[in-house]
Amino acid sequence: MSSESPVHWAKAYPPAAGQMQSPVDIRTRVVSQDPQLLQRPLSWTYVPENCKAVLNTGEGWKVLVEGQGSCLTGGPLEHSYQLIQFHCHWGKCCSSGSEHKVDGKAFAGELHLVHWNVDLYNSLEEAIASPKGLAVIGIFFQVGKDDHKELCKITELLHELPRKGDECALTKEVDPSQFIPEVHDYWTYDGSLTTPPCHESVTWLVFKKPVEVSEEQLDKFRCMSSTSSPKAILNGEPVPGKCLQNVRPVQPLNDRIIREAPY
Ligand SMILES: [Zn+2]
Repeated sequence: MSSESPVHWAKAYPPAAGQMQSPVDIRTRVVSQDPQLLQRPLSWTYVPENCKAVLNTGEGWKVLVEGQGSCLTGGPLEHSYQLIQFHCHWGKCCSSGSEHKVDGKAFAGELHLVHWNVDLYNSLEEAIASPKGLAVIGIFFQVGKDDHKELCKITELLHELPRKGDECALTKEVDPSQFIPEVHDYWTYDGSLTTPPCHESVTWLVFKKPVEVSEEQLDKFRCMSSTSSPKAILNGEPVPGKCLQNVRPVQPLNDRIIREAPY
């Protein structure tokens, strides 16, 4: 469904034409400083053994989480949010790949930790389409010399997912908190899912400092197959479509305010 170009999403998914869509370009000079964000620090508790499996979605990879005990609270959040999955966005090359931009600049990738509001709602399905239903942490990836150790536990399994729909159990415990940058400054704003159905139910928390991953790790992402069956034959060999990029362009901020804690 979402493999169709993002400009056509609104035909099938009306929320995509809304005024509070994501991602956005974060223009740092017009970010608003909000002392209220300091009243309760943003805090997270993740249970590594809750991360169960990695799935090829056809757009990329997604780690499936049984989130009991994996909880995000504080900062702009008035409720408890439970981790349900995390996934990544990337581009054909390292000059693009993040969904959010900062002063017009894209990073090489962006990890999304998706949480749903377990105080207000009974299920993810209910939360996804409801006010304050989701809280998503965005973490920028930039290319460094070394592999990101925690990410290796995922990238080393991607060859086990040759087709869309393939799923494989994680063989090593993955700790989502290992992806969070050492400096915890973040921007927050109200937005949407960046893939259909694009519901405007997301409190975004985008960490300012990127974390480093290797070029080889991003190449492994790009080698993932986007199809459930090979599309073409080249020299007698099937050539599957590849997940070369999975980024929605930035959307208008409209009258929304992006906030940060004052220094
Ligand atoms: Zn995402």
